[in-house]
Amino acid sequence: LKEHNAKSLWHPMAHPADSLANPPTIVTGARGVSITDVDGHEVVDAVGGLWNVNLGFSCQPVKDAIAAQLDVLPYYSTFRGTTNDQVIQLAEELKDFFAPDGLSRAFFTSGGSDSVETALRLARQYHKIRGQEGRTKFLSLKKGYHGTHMGGASVNGNANFRTQYEPLLPGCHHIPAPYTYRNPFNESDPERLAQLCLQALEDEIAFQGAGTIAAFIMEPILGAGGVIPPHESFMPGVRQICSKHGILLIADEVITAFGRTGSWTGSRHWGVQPDLMCTAKAITNGYFPFGAVMIADGVAEVFESDESGKAAIGHGYTYSGHPVGAAAALACLAETKRLNVPENAAARGAELHEGLLALKDKYGLIGDVRGGHGLMCALELVGDHVSKTPIDKKTIGMVQEVAYQSGAMVRVSGPNIILSPPLVLEAADVSTILSALDAGLAAAS
Ligand code: PMP
Repeated sequence: LKEHNAKSLWHPMAHPADSLANPPTIVTGARGVSITDVDGHEVVDAVGGLWNVNLGFSCQPVKDAIAAQLDVLPYYSTFRGTTNDQVIQLAEELKDFFAPDGLSRAFFTSGGSDSVETALRLARQYHKIRGQEGRTKFLSLKKGYHGTHMGGASVNGNANFRTQYEPLLPGCHHIPAPYTYRNPFNESDPERLAQLCLQALEDEIAFQGAGTIAAFIMEPILGAGGVIPPHESFMPGVRQICSKHGILLIADEVITAFGRTGSWTGSRHWGVQPDLMCTAKAITNGYFPFGAVMIADGVAEVFESDESGKAAIGHGYTYSGHPVGAAAALACLAETKRLNVPENAAARGAELHEGLLALKDKYGLIGDVRGGHGLMCALELVGDHVSKTPIDKKTIGMVQEVAYQSGAMVRVSGPNIILSPPLVLEAADVSTILSALDAGLAAAS
């Protein structure tokens, strides 16, 4: 395997030449909250698969549900005319789960990028049904990540995911994120920064013309952009501005739904009800590619009461409402509720955040520590504290490598070390992650 690694496959989000020079670790097994590589080295997975393995890797009820469903109905189309019992049951369960978020209808997809694409399309269609054909543009946050389809890439805030694929969707504009460590306003107070970003949103809407904008899409806590929690006033402020201008608010909760922030959803964490919510990842805990867009009552009514034919949905995936995926999701939802995972995410997340703050006192390499909202944390590394020079690739790579040898898989994204472990983590696992990072930072300092 090692000899062939990267010679016959291209790795997502990697330069093919880098992968040849530096072949990725080959993971051969996983159990509980740990993974094992081809050399038999076992570590705590502080990445949680890819923000999705909330329940760990040994979730027996999910495995049983998948096995049982494979025997009964492994697949059938949900396009026109046919559906299946699992997907109906799942939609009912999700309706209850998301009731506090004001969301009552589900449209199923095969993953996060598909959920984003679906939400963007439904947002445009919603305005067309209402005779507002001019509302086609999308606004989003700089540093936001919304997957890799052409629509999602267009609203991605990070230019590194856009420029290779331009021209993208026209009319997508990005406003400054409430990122206290670095921002165009030089403002480090979170509340004042939130106000400045909200003003930037108002200014952009005025500049574009409110009647040209379909939706604003945002993550309740920016994830891949470096775990950036906004001030508590930010998302409610966005909600208010969107409502005032007739712009739909799409919450991209591909990472944050199902407990990661210490709340059941990220929007609920901030007391906001979005118009559309994108989910995926933890909905099936990595056991099956699956996603759902949840739809608010008000949006659903516009579609369901249409008599012009404009509400016909010309969108869907072969695997929308896959019965095995739906069975997996039903079992994951039951486990998520039974274990009350947000409670553990909040408790372990607080310990992890506190430990990271202690590491900041020890290492000049750490410019910023972000977290405090469940099990999503990040360290932003710098070459120099005063000038905040971003860390070089080699040094951050060394932190990651030594941390891995010392017991924890952590993720590097630009200048950030990102931590998003399973939500069933125990206190001893938090200590393992912290001591592994300690070793990595010591080696690189
Ligand atoms: N939105 C967000 C917020 C994400 O973090 C991701 C994936 N990391 C996506 C969308 C895309 O999901 P997927 O990779 O499943 O297509």
